[in-house]
Amino acid sequence: MSDAPEYDPTTTTCPQCAVGCSLRYDEMTGRATGIEGARVNRDGRLCPKGIAAFEGRDEDRLTTPLVRRDGDLEPVSWEVALDRVVDGIEGVRERHGPEALAFLGAPRCTNEENYLLQRIARSLGTNNVDNRARSCHDATAHAMEARLGSGGTTNSLDDLREADAFLVAGANPAERQPIAFDRSMRSAVNDGAALLHLDPRANRTTRLATHHLAPHPGRDALAVALLVRAILDAGLEDGAFVAERTTGFEAFARSMERFDVAADAERAGLDPAAVRAAAETFGGAERAAVVTGTGIEDDEGATPNALLDLLLITGNLGKRGTGMNPFRGLVNEQGASDMGARPDCLPGEAHVSDADARMRVAAEWGVEPPAEPGTAEPALVRSFGEEVRGAFVLGENPAVNRLDDTTSERRFADLDFLAVQDVAPNETTAYADVVLPASAWAEKSGTVTNLDRQVQALRPAASPPGTARHDLDVLCDLGARLTDADFEYDGPSGVFAEMTRVNPLYAGMTFAGVVDGGERWPLPAGASEGTQVLHRERFRTGRRRASFGSMTAIASGAAAGEDESVGEKLVLLTESRVDEGRPTADDATIQVNPADAARLAVADGARVAVESERGTVRLVADVTDDVREGTVFAHASVVDPLVGGGRTLVQMEKSRRRRE
Ligand code: SF4
Repeated sequence: MSDAPEYDPTTTTCPQCAVGCSLRYDEMTGRATGIEGARVNRDGRLCPKGIAAFEGRDEDRLTTPLVRRDGDLEPVSWEVALDRVVDGIEGVRERHGPEALAFLGAPRCTNEENYLLQRIARSLGTNNVDNRARSCHDATAHAMEARLGSGGTTNSLDDLREADAFLVAGANPAERQPIAFDRSMRSAVNDGAALLHLDPRANRTTRLATHHLAPHPGRDALAVALLVRAILDAGLEDGAFVAERTTGFEAFARSMERFDVAADAERAGLDPAAVRAAAETFGGAERAAVVTGTGIEDDEGATPNALLDLLLITGNLGKRGTGMNPFRGLVNEQGASDMGARPDCLPGEAHVSDADARMRVAAEWGVEPPAEPGTAEPALVRSFGEEVRGAFVLGENPAVNRLDDTTSERRFADLDFLAVQDVAPNETTAYADVVLPASAWAEKSGTVTNLDRQVQALRPAASPPGTARHDLDVLCDLGARLTDADFEYDGPSGVFAEMTRVNPLYAGMTFAGVVDGGERWPLPAGASEGTQVLHRERFRTGRRRASFGSMTAIASGAAAGEDESVGEKLVLLTESRVDEGRPTADDATIQVNPADAARLAVADGARVAVESERGTVRLVADVTDDVREGTVFAHASVVDPLVGGGRTLVQMEKSRRRRE
């Protein structure tokens, strides 16, 4: 008998994070309630973010299309607004070519909306389509795609409960993805599994950890390399797996000879005995899994690649309770990439240079997408007004970008044409020539894909306000006007059906199956449910073997961040932005190690001025051993004004401003 619950028409998927709990809007309280027996939150539990999922949804809504005339945005009919979008995009394309266009999607849009957005972009002749959330796990996804053939979690949440040891690296799932953490890791740890936490800061996940490795910021890759070295020293490698499922071990082993746990642990800021103990736990476990977060992301991908090496050397891929599992943060972060809202891949992780994949798409669309990858979002926005002259932005606010100082007002003002489709005015709509009122989460129907590779249904609990329309309908209208192709679909189910024909990851799924409780990708032909464990017989590259990397750059200290001197300054740690309850100006704190607090004469609870080269914020000092000496931690939303690209260094002193 199926354990799937009876789904009523008001059940939908939580918009607040990538876990994908099922909930319904409770009109009595204005809050969300969980669905007992749901695929993800089986006990019906929601975290506080999910309970508040629908709060404030009607604030500041756009209710009618706007077109800029004489400098001001004025209300117009949909007909006038869509004509203006078509004129703007066609004008840029005719004057500068399709590569002068950019299309930016978002994880807050459904799979079907992201699919249509990239279809429009590629039908117009450009792969300049992206979604910002992709960059949150870009290094990890790229490392996994290059070596395993897929950036999706290798093992399902249910399967992770089988692990005997977890290494959680640069992530805080106990706080950020609490329902997923409780269902997989907490229950396994309660049953005796070990939890190794690799993070420079102690946080809620650390409370459950059996080992905490807190390296200097930027030394995560070195810490992982030392775990591998200690595993080799202890003879805990899985020789049979290395022989049967890997290539390049000899060269990899040579690169490992350059490490000495006792000597290099100091460079990483770690106790050698703690490294060896953690290595023996992970290497000695029958089944060990890695869970990653944004804290290990770096430009070179050194840490995710080192983690893949750790899994290969210990034989922890393609089996139950193992694998490399990026815990994504934003809702539908996985789905937006699966749909091809990225510049390098068509739907289904198929690289744009893959001629078969282009032909598959062309058979549906009647037009072949370009074979050269487009430009990723940060670089696209940097080229606004230069190479890129026109942009269509769906559900994103790229005018606010804490990682890129060059995303200045001038970039947006210099565009020949900008159209934005969103629910409320924001910094980007301020530069738009056309603003299209969009549908909010509670008004959408369609599908999204969670961090567990589960494709789930959204059901509308309300209608868009005023003359606002469903985003899917607007995209269909635009597709039909901008191209010669057929953009008539039978709603989200029609788009989904087409998408399953061009997206091999979703092949075999049906919209009805998703609505009936969810489908996991990939769904093998004839199987009753999607694959829990990837890479069992072959990796998704199609090969039986995966290649080892090299630790040479890490051994020489050339990996990201290791060559930067911080002097007297402090390294600012943050967690990446999520839509969660944010501290107010009065209670926003910054965690400071007692040694730094003593050096700076800052008392616990004192108001401090924290300054980087970008600005100053005033916060309350929380003196704690949770952060190591030389580092401070604050919530991302309150230190946004300080943060730029790369590592952020700050100075701190007692605030001279009196507390209000
Ligand atoms: Fe929503 Fe994520 Fe909380 Fe689940 S864990 S209720 S999906 S915010």
